[in-house]
Amino acid sequence: MLSADFLHLEKDVEMVNSHADLFHLDVMDGSFVPNISFGFPIVEAIGKKAAKPLDVHLMIVHPEKYVERFVKAGADMISFHFEAALQQTDEVIDLIHSFNCKAGVAINPDCPVEKIFPFLGKLDFVLVMSVFAGFGGQKFIEDSLGRIASVKAELERLGRDIPIEVDGGISPDNASSVVKAGASILVAGSSVFKAADPAAAIAAMRL
Ligand code: ZN
Repeated sequence: MLSADFLHLEKDVEMVNSHADLFHLDVMDGSFVPNISFGFPIVEAIGKKAAKPLDVHLMIVHPEKYVERFVKAGADMISFHFEAALQQTDEVIDLIHSFNCKAGVAINPDCPVEKIFPFLGKLDFVLVMSVFAGFGGQKFIEDSLGRIASVKAELERLGRDIPIEVDGGISPDNASSVVKAGASILVAGSSVFKAADPAAAIAAMRL
């Protein structure tokens, strides 16, 4: 939703309700990432009209401080950055679960994916960043395909069937290779909202 038209948000929410599978909301704090996006009022407003699950991606320091409020704002899934939690990763996952919300860990392109392997047993999804967290409209980093495949291989080794979500630079041009690598949730912002026909752009990414 970072690429939505905030002056006509209801129109874009209805488009997502009609054509996509979930709302991906990028929350940035100006500290963990250099950019600031939006907070509770926007998440709540989208939640009131959303007919699809709300997937809140926290790009913030101290995610544990805000989990409860994002659940109250309507989050069905919350991911936070491994790099923002480090030793507290287990506790933050447990905290998200304590509110009956799905928990995901997000990982930036420069952090070895193996670092999140110890948590795969308790996560509900994994968010592999295919650009550096912080801005919309970036170009897909090709190395991400190998990182997705590594996570997929480890999940298979563990017998865990949870979705791998991929976020950043996803478009109809690379959707099939991302899915082939093992992803099952594709986050697309600018390639959908900047398209002449957003519904067609979404349809082109369904395989
Ligand atoms: Zn995101």
